[in-house]
This record gives sequence, C-alpha cells and structure tokens, in this order.
Amino acid sequence: MVAKLILDKKREGHALGSAEIREFVDGFTRGEIPDYQMSALAMAICCRGMTDRETADLTDAMMRSGRCLEWGFPTADKHSTGGVGDKLSLVIQPLAAACGVAVPSLTGRGLGITGGTADKLETIPGYNASLSLDDFQRVVAEVGVSMTVQTDEITPADKKLYALRDVTGTVASIPLIVGSILSKKLAEGAGTLVFDVKCGSGAFMKTREEAHALAEALVGGAKAAGRKAAALVTDMSAPLGRAVGNANEVAEALSILRGETAADRPDVALSVELAALMVSLSRDIPLDDAREECRAKLADGSALGRFEAMARAQGGDLAKFARLLEMPTFKFRIQSMKSGYVSAIDAEKVARVALSLGAGRMKAGDSIDPRAGVTLAVGVGDRVSIGSPLATLETSSGPDGLEKAASALYAAFAISPSAVESRDLVIERIS
Ligand code: URA
Repeated sequence: MVAKLILDKKREGHALGSAEIREFVDGFTRGEIPDYQMSALAMAICCRGMTDRETADLTDAMMRSGRCLEWGFPTADKHSTGGVGDKLSLVIQPLAAACGVAVPSLTGRGLGITGGTADKLETIPGYNASLSLDDFQRVVAEVGVSMTVQTDEITPADKKLYALRDVTGTVASIPLIVGSILSKKLAEGAGTLVFDVKCGSGAFMKTREEAHALAEALVGGAKAAGRKAAALVTDMSAPLGRAVGNANEVAEALSILRGETAADRPDVALSVELAALMVSLSRDIPLDDAREECRAKLADGSALGRFEAMARAQGGDLAKFARLLEMPTFKFRIQSMKSGYVSAIDAEKVARVALSLGAGRMKAGDSIDPRAGVTLAVGVGDRVSIGSPLATLETSSGPDGLEKAASALYAAFAISPSAVESRDLVIERIS
C-alpha cells in the first residue's frame, strides 16, 4: 500500500477499497503511517465524504485496532452524543440491567460544554471509573452493569485519530464521527445499541438535519456490523433535568432512581424510553411491554439497587457522597425579575456558566471541581413571579466571579407573558 496514492484517491473524491482503508488504519495504529498522512486523510474524508460501505470499513478497521469484548449473555448499551445536564446514563444503564439486560458501558470524560459520565461518577468518593478490562468484565458479570472509561486496549486507532482531528479541524465529519463512536461501542461487545442523538444549542449537532443524518448513519452502521440498533433524535435546546455540573447531576440521578422525581418530567420519561428501547430490542419484546417493565423497575427500586451495587463494586461510597453534598460551597441564587412563564433556558449559555465555575475542562487533563455547577429551580413551561428563584450557582473556588457568572446565567432565561406548550424531548425515532 502506498499511502500517498490513497490520499490522492480520496482527495479526488473516489471511494477507497476495503483493503486500502484497513491497511491505512493498521499502519497508523502501528506508527508506520505518520500523523501528517492520517491528518491529510481525515481532511480529505471531511471534504469528500465516504460511502456507507467505506464508513463501515473504517469503523471495522478502527474496532479491530484493539481488543474486542464478547459476552455470553444479552447485552445492550446506550450512547448519547452529549448534552448539557445529560446524566441519563446514570439512570438508564442500571434500569436496563434491572430488566435483565446486561450493560457493559465504556463511557467518556467531559470536554468543553458537554459533561462526561465518568467525571460525574468519580464525584462518588472511591468510585473507580478507570477499571481494567478484566475488572470491567467481572463487574458486568456480577452486577449486570458497569460504567468505566475506555482503556488504551480498546480502539487505540480512535484514540490517536481523535487527538489529531481535534487539532486539525476534522471533527465535524459524519463518517469520522460514526467511525469513532461506533468502533468503541462495537469493541465493547454490546449486542444492542441505542443512540440518543442530541440536537440544539447545547449539542454537538445544532440542526435537526445534522442530527438526523448522524442518527441514521449510526443506526445503519451498527446494523451493518450485525447489532440491533435504534436512535432517538432528542431536543437539547434546554438543559436536561435541573442539575448541570457533576456531583449535583449524580444527586439528581439518584433522586430519579429513588422515585423522588415526577415520572412525567421530560428527562425521566426520556430515560424510560431509551431504556425500554434497549430492553425491547435485546429481549425481542414489544416496546410497550418494555416501557411498562422499565416504569415498574424504576418505581420498585430495582434500578436504584443496580446503581448502588455497581457503585459498591467499583469502590464507591454513597454515604460519603451524601456527606460531600452537605459540605459548604460558595453559592449565588438568581431570581426572576419578571412575572410570566419560562419559555426557554438556553442550554449552551447554562453550560458555559457551569464551565466557568469549574464544572468542566477547557482542555483534556484539566481538573474539575466536583461541586461546581448550576442547579435550576424551574424548567421550561413553569410559571414564575418577580422574585421567584430561577437557579443556584455553586463553586468551591471562592466568591470571585460568581456575580458575573450569575448575570450570564440570567441571560439564559426567557420569560414570556403567555403560557408555553410543554414540549416532547423526542424529535424523531430511527429504527
Ligand atoms: N464523540 C466521539 O467519540 N467521537 C467523535 O468523533 C465525536 C464525538
């Protein structure tokens, strides 16, 4: 294989052969193809695109660049493309496990405005979100669910390529995004994959068209690889639930698992819907039946039991977590200056405030403040009067900057004089 000829071919807009893609990815993983040639290929793919067959070949080659897990029982996972306040994995994965579907979930850390499930879980004192693959397999077999970060043994080609894409302007390409997300999920070995493709100001995909295209490509790619798959395109114009941060998001997930949050709140309903898709596809039962079972397992504490067992198996101490939430932080509460109805809460603006308080990282490797974040007192559609609480900002790092952050947060709220219709988070279903 001559790398330059492959680059010429893709630059001219031709489809690459399966062997060409495999050899290029293998050579890059082994360090024989230098970063500059891989970057050039990524840019050519960005500009010229890939056919479905090429995307499937790229995904397969990246998946095979490391270890691929296999399970002897039904498994499923849910992947979200990342949103603001998106702690739903903490509810969905144990809920599916409570319905008899094991969930081996390799998860990520946050970067920029979107949070990472691993960072949230690590706010539970002792929780090990960096298990070895052997321990990951043991926890899944014993508890039915494990959430840990991807190790170097899984899809090393993606790890190297993603770092290059990040600095060469080649992140925004559907074939590259599909190859990256799917190769990791396929290597994890889940038999069913459900995708929550977020769409809106707080999401990676800002428009419905982009989100639709990514959802179709993910489902098509997963099916081409022999997995059962479905996707929901869901609204991410407002934060999911009330908490945006890390420890406060875990606390909110626990309150959903304990049945303390209204079952018809949009984020709770979406959690049930995504878990039900995992259960329905994995166990081959009607979606209505799976939905009923998920509601029942959430209400009777079975999903909470799985979450607690997973936290324990990974070293987490939930009693210490409860004490952590009691420790003092610097807080600032914002109140409405108008009467009316909350018609919008801009997810991106809320996320930027949470990031400025220390809840996220600007670059990989930055440390995060587990207690920093924003907790909303209202959701879209709620009625407010002058002086009604809108949100609380929280940080451990001191009072400086809180007031400035508070006025930026206030700008995220739109209050209108007339009632707003409640919106369904699910924009589109792809199966
Ligand atoms: N998430 C990933 O894992 N990869 C991408 O390319 C984009 C989002």
